Amino acid sequence: MSQVHVELTRRQKEQRLHFRATFPPRKGSWTLQLPTWRPGRYELGNFAQYVMWVEGVDAEGERVRLSKSSLHSWTVPEGILVVEWLFHADILNAGSTCVEDGLFYVNPVNCFMYDLERQDEGFLIHLKDLEVRETSDEGWALATAMPWHAEGGHPVLEAKNVQHLMDSPWMASPKMWHDSYLEQGVEFHVWVHDTLPSDPEKFMADHVAFTRAQLSYFGSFPVPSYHFLYLFPDRDVRHGVEHEDSTVIALGPAERVKSEEGYMEIIGIASHELYHAWNVKRIRPAEWMPYDFANARPSELGYIAEGVTTYMGDLFLFEAGIVNLEGWCQLMTRLLERHLNNPGRKNLSVAASSYDTWLDGYKMGVQGRKGSIYVEGAVLAFLCDTRIMSLTQGQSSLSTAMKLLWERHGKPREGLTADMYWNALEEVAEAPLQDLRERHAEGTEDTWKALVEAMGTQGLTLSQSRDDKGITRVHLSPSKG
Ligand SMILES: [Zn+2]
Repeated sequence: MSQVHVELTRRQKEQRLHFRATFPPRKGSWTLQLPTWRPGRYELGNFAQYVMWVEGVDAEGERVRLSKSSLHSWTVPEGILVVEWLFHADILNAGSTCVEDGLFYVNPVNCFMYDLERQDEGFLIHLKDLEVRETSDEGWALATAMPWHAEGGHPVLEAKNVQHLMDSPWMASPKMWHDSYLEQGVEFHVWVHDTLPSDPEKFMADHVAFTRAQLSYFGSFPVPSYHFLYLFPDRDVRHGVEHEDSTVIALGPAERVKSEEGYMEIIGIASHELYHAWNVKRIRPAEWMPYDFANARPSELGYIAEGVTTYMGDLFLFEAGIVNLEGWCQLMTRLLERHLNNPGRKNLSVAASSYDTWLDGYKMGVQGRKGSIYVEGAVLAFLCDTRIMSLTQGQSSLSTAMKLLWERHGKPREGLTADMYWNALEEVAEAPLQDLRERHAEGTEDTWKALVEAMGTQGLTLSQSRDDKGITRVHLSPSKG
């Protein structure tokens, strides 16, 4: 099998990564492509702004600067099989690449290039200047879901193809904590760089609890092992990104990680990201199956990818006993306040807002223009969940439908369409749900009446008031009597 060999070395002081990639022989000129976006963030990433230069090296060792064929691709002339480039890596969040003292953290989707026409080629990545510990607790440790072995003390990572490579981040650090647990035969690894939460035992116990709860609903897990990669640096950051068999979660500063509130943020994000292992990594909108890294690929199904995940991530904290009913009501209150205070939900539907994340989905944007796939999507998921439970006297729920979707479309890796999703919900509800789809997924009808009713079916009373700044406040509590 032909493989691309990549030698990676750090230029720590300048916070840069040097790539030397040797491609298998090919005829004619070809296109070297850098991803234009990364899964988990549905907008253009413009990573080429961090590429200092790209050069080709011929058989005689002569170097030539490559010219661009698009904003994020270069033309490699015939005869050139070795390409080098320099990437500036000084950003630290859950989807970035960062080289600094005490941290070597890479999301390949930011900085690796591939042959646009040969995406099935594997990658062998030699981390030439990294020595890792294998048995002792001293020195640098490497955390990743990507298979790797040591060659003369240096790690060599192996990706099957472009899809695998771009979905497999790694972090290496001399300040790495590690533990693991086994759940239904699946191995779960927890890696922490820098600051360890105050109570590591509770940290692990909570992981076991939400993992067990989610697994019991889905019945099986997509992969044999899974890695939580936690970056807890002493600086301000809050972010999580899902991958096929891992997740990166960044939170800081240290004080926040050590606090009770920060700890609950971490567990909340972790539960959300694990749910993504099924929902979006496998139950995946058709537009993203497989990922087309070279082009923007808008989808109207962000309300399933992020909305259902946001709602379920929180619900599983309750199912796992990590928060009580009061705690869940607090999470829901925060969500509903964000929902009700955004007039944009009445202008663009959550499906239309999903399509438009590629324009400005991750910033405020024009006041009153759009909804959020996270917030409006989670509210819709709650309405679907309670509707299904009411219709089936609690025999089925949204979780039942998600399990069906996992087995029917996720396992065989069949891209999801809106019809497939709504058909599965109607199948478990044994009733039409057209009104929910038309009013609240593809329409912009106000949700308040439906929300009050839905909370009522769960024995909860919902009301709202306005504070002196005109902001809507939500009150949610168990019904009396
Ligand atoms: Zn998410």
